[in-house]
Amino acid sequence: MRADAEAPAQAVDVLVAGLGPGGCAAALAARAEGLSTLAVEARGPEATRSQLVLVRPGAQAALRRLGLPDITEGRRTTTIRHVENRLRAALVEAAQASPGFGLCWHTSVAALEPGDGGVRVTLRDEASGACRTVAARHVIDASGGRLEALGRPERARAGPRHLVITAEYAAPPWFEGIVGVRDPVTHELYLLFPTWGRRGVIAYFDSRPGPEADEKALVQRFDALAERLALGAPNQPAWAVDVAQRMLLRPCGDRVVPIGDAVGTVDVLTGAGMSTAIEDGADAAFAIAAAQRDLSAAAELARTRAVSARLFARHRHGARRGRLMLAVRPLIERAWPAAALPAIGRETVGPPPLLWPAVRFVFGRRPQAS
Ligand SMILES: Cc1cc2nc3c(=O)[nH]c(=O)nc-3n(C[C@H](O)[C@H](O)[C@H](O)COP(=O)(O)OP(=O)(O)OC[C@H]3O[C@@H](n4cnc5c(N)ncnc54)[C@H](O)[C@@H]3O)c2cc1C
Repeated sequence: MRADAEAPAQAVDVLVAGLGPGGCAAALAARAEGLSTLAVEARGPEATRSQLVLVRPGAQAALRRLGLPDITEGRRTTTIRHVENRLRAALVEAAQASPGFGLCWHTSVAALEPGDGGVRVTLRDEASGACRTVAARHVIDASGGRLEALGRPERARAGPRHLVITAEYAAPPWFEGIVGVRDPVTHELYLLFPTWGRRGVIAYFDSRPGPEADEKALVQRFDALAERLALGAPNQPAWAVDVAQRMLLRPCGDRVVPIGDAVGTVDVLTGAGMSTAIEDGADAAFAIAAAQRDLSAAAELARTRAVSARLFARHRHGARRGRLMLAVRPLIERAWPAAALPAIGRETVGPPPLLWPAVRFVFGRRPQAS
């Protein structure tokens, strides 16, 4: 799609496509480096996803560098909604304070034409359907992989189909810590986490990785479990997500630098996707700023390719870890109390005895508030 054949209406150093955790971190880092930046997000500013996420030390460090020293307020986990809302609030402040920083909600990247000196980007306003073009020296693809539909390189599936459902409920938790249950016949896991301030419950349903699961039937069974536990209606309707690993086959060689899920997704069991996206976003923007300071176009492109290759290598490493987690899933499963899922009640779900030592072993120490 081409808005018109005329010169683009706006020229920027960096256009950030998508404002999930990775795109937000990229936009904040680009702004910190003094690059003229346009950050666009297809949806509105309000984050709604209630997946429970870990903020790993690398992501904590990247956020600290961007002026967000303690996003989890001393805890290891939080919801992706909380992280996105904090980052997006920082973006709104940045847009108000710096004239060189533009922020557009309900605006999609509709086409990309990378060239030698920059990328011609067509943006579509989701409300009116109007299109305009922007000339960007670099694009950071933080779309979670959705720009594949526009002809960007596709990520190949690198693991089995793995359906996961999460939902948040307003019901107060009746348990301490994390509780759960495994079904010894279907090999499914159903876990419950208290939300921050114990105001609600997040339920997580992990189906056995493999080709056979039916999404609709799983959601119905998930809703039936919530009914048995009297959790009430979920805050957002539950849906099954295939969290199978996907990965680009090679690093990108042009001025569009993919980050986060656009490079690859790792299995949720590793709890690393959001943190990796944040680290990628900050790294990409800092590297692009350094590349743009280079005097020759050839050196600029070489530095751009180097950062794409570095992020690709980070994801390849993460994908190996993801495969390892999937391989040990049967052991993780056995840590939980066993019960037939359709028959569970509030008294059936319980904590696994070795949970916290295992969490510390896999995910490291709780981040220190600073
Ligand atoms: C069930 C589940 C549980 C998870 N649990 C964890 C966990 O415990 N820990 C963890 O770290 N990670 C977890 N993840 C993974 C984590 O959610 C992702 O890895 C993370 O959100 C990736 O961030 P991102 O910024 O790369 O992309 P996304 O979060 O996917 O953001 C992409 C953004 O781009 C926007 N967009 C898309 N197309 C366009 C376009 N054309 N133009 C403009 N904007 C566009 C989208 O609206 C979206 O806001 C989980 C994921 C799932 C599904």
